Amino acid sequence: MADESSNVRTVVGEKTAKVLEKAFGIQTIGDLLRHYPFRYFERGELTNLAELRPGEHATLQVRVVKVFGKQIRPNLHKTDVTITDGTRHQIVATFFNRKFLPKVLQPDMEIVVSGEVEVFNRKLQLKQPDIALNAKGLVDDAGKLMPIYRATKDVRTWALKNAVDLALGMVDLPESLPDDLRTRRGLMGRSEAIHAIHQPESREHAEQAKDRLRFDEAFVTQVVLAQRRNLALLEPAKPRARIQGGLLEAFDASLPFTLTAGQREVGEQLFEDLARGVPMHRLLQGEVGSGKTVVAVRAMLAVVDAGGQAALLAPTEVLAQQHARSIDVLLGPLGRAGQLDAADRSTAVALITGSMGAAARQAALLDVITGRAGIVIGTHALLEKAVQFEDLGLVVVDEQHRFGVEQRDALRAKADSPPHLLVMTATPIPRTVAMTVYGDLETSTLAELPAGRQPIKTTVVPTADDDKAGWLDRAWQRAREEVASGRQVFVVCPRIDADDAAEEPELAEGWSTAAAVEDVTPMLAQGPLAGLRIEMLHGRMPSERKDDVMQRFAAGKIDVLVATTVIEVGVDVPNATTMIVLDADRFGISQLHQLRGRVGRGGNEGVCLLVTNATRDTPARERLAGIEKTLDGFELARLDLKQRREGDVLGESQSGRRRHLKLLELLRDEAVIVAARSDAIALVAEDPTLERHEPLRAAVSALVADERAEFLGKA
Ligand code: ADP
Ligand code: MG
Repeated sequence: MADESSNVRTVVGEKTAKVLEKAFGIQTIGDLLRHYPFRYFERGELTNLAELRPGEHATLQVRVVKVFGKQIRPNLHKTDVTITDGTRHQIVATFFNRKFLPKVLQPDMEIVVSGEVEVFNRKLQLKQPDIALNAKGLVDDAGKLMPIYRATKDVRTWALKNAVDLALGMVDLPESLPDDLRTRRGLMGRSEAIHAIHQPESREHAEQAKDRLRFDEAFVTQVVLAQRRNLALLEPAKPRARIQGGLLEAFDASLPFTLTAGQREVGEQLFEDLARGVPMHRLLQGEVGSGKTVVAVRAMLAVVDAGGQAALLAPTEVLAQQHARSIDVLLGPLGRAGQLDAADRSTAVALITGSMGAAARQAALLDVITGRAGIVIGTHALLEKAVQFEDLGLVVVDEQHRFGVEQRDALRAKADSPPHLLVMTATPIPRTVAMTVYGDLETSTLAELPAGRQPIKTTVVPTADDDKAGWLDRAWQRAREEVASGRQVFVVCPRIDADDAAEEPELAEGWSTAAAVEDVTPMLAQGPLAGLRIEMLHGRMPSERKDDVMQRFAAGKIDVLVATTVIEVGVDVPNATTMIVLDADRFGISQLHQLRGRVGRGGNEGVCLLVTNATRDTPARERLAGIEKTLDGFELARLDLKQRREGDVLGESQSGRRRHLKLLELLRDEAVIVAARSDAIALVAEDPTLERHEPLRAAVSALVADERAEFLGKA
């Protein structure tokens, strides 16, 4: 007898197997059975033809209006079948060499057709679709629901149905949940659920099946996470207790501002975590500008004081450099060990990026391996083998949503015992996502902003709307007014120059037309902002040039700074009140939210203008409208999540988990996730290796294998 891990070739031919693998990643019978129908047709329920889009592969239940067969050439017979959804909408489905059709099809008959939607003579049509008759004829599932599968030109929905039906007849589907749990949660048995989702008796039956299978998806994920937490406890971390009279105290005494209550509180929490013999796993959420960097630096200094090293991992080179600069400023003489102006007690800060020269790199690597550098900042380059620490005690990951589990774990693997981990994000992660993706992290939040921050007024400037003509001129006018009253302006562009490939990973497609710093700067200087002191700033300028421009901007010697997202973090010029983002639709939600956090830092209200060419009613405009409406990072995170596909939320490197979540939606299914989590924790506590839960263990290993077991195991 076949089982779920058997090759799908057991039930389909070689050719179909290839297509299934290519189109849907289906390799095993289990994969096939998890290719769930996305809808069910019921007799009499017709598909809305108004929703058809050219180019899509559609399966429709429709009514025949008329049938017209014709011999075009000796070898070519054509049948045009006009079909309707019962409204005024009609389209034509064209069949070649199906001479029997005019004899079988009658007006008013209900049929199911499946094929490519094309445009012919400026009208939609279905060319050479597959057809099933469900009144009488080829398929007759009288009274039953017909499952409709995501299909392609090469594998039709009924080919999938046939394969699934065959598979269901062949495999044994063991129960994976303990009986008492299943009963308590009122869930259908697993075998029944998998049968029912493909061959439901009724819509309600299908829903119950989905409830069960959705729970399974949440449960298996949570069991994996519970096991990871358990494993982490078995591998103790080195405690890094805070000491007196160290760098941390000196740093606190040197800060030019007082910490907010939130920063203090989170700080205490971190020191407590760091002093324990189990690795800290903490997520620090805090609005843009809430002062996360200072919190992280304090934690890093506590670790350095305790004899260890701390690494700060940033997603891009520009961000790593920004961090290095701002941490250098924050630390002052405390971070200049080995230099003339070092404080009595001090450490060194090393920066390691992919683009640094060989000599500088060698020097930095040496500082890291000897432990001279207490704080090491870098990009993915930190993950390379060549980077070795003397005693890595803490890993801080900034803006983790661009990092995968694997990268995080590769860095952790550089320490003898698991280092403590702090993940920081300005885009708050909804609870359910945190529980599913980062289920092993505890959460701290910096709720308040440092005193003196002003609200930022955001306005979308849509250059494509006829009734908004002139808005862009007004935006430049506004910039001039701000400068006239002594304030400064940022202009942000998605690109550096015409050949610039994506500098930022978040940028959407359609690069070629996006505004570029090198074009926009002269254009503004000669046009709408003529006479103002304009300069540019971008990631390809040499560091000294960048520093020089930043320093002059900070000193008020530049009125308008045209920049890429290099200013996204670390830039802190309270006199800058206005930000004009060009082609704002090219940026992601969290990036725009970060960017606008650069204004409104002084005593004056900040203004952020989002210029876009996107037309009304597009997702891009919806996104910008969302940012216009709220300053609340939590709400924006939800919007972000809603707009992206679920898979993207989990991140590129989480493809394993993504493939396992077919029915579960992280935003919608909070209750399911919470329930599954508590059940998973209880079960793993009682049977850590799942010895007594064999089918569950198989499901868990499948997920872990997909997620690259070699990395997961190190948690
Ligand atoms: P984010 O949370 O966005 O990373 P940062 O750590 O970059 O925020 O902090 C933003 C700015 O606020 C920095 O210039 C930082 O020096 C400053 N800052 C941090 N904490 C305070 C505070 N308690 N009071 C005043 N300014 C602060
Ligand atoms: Mg930051």
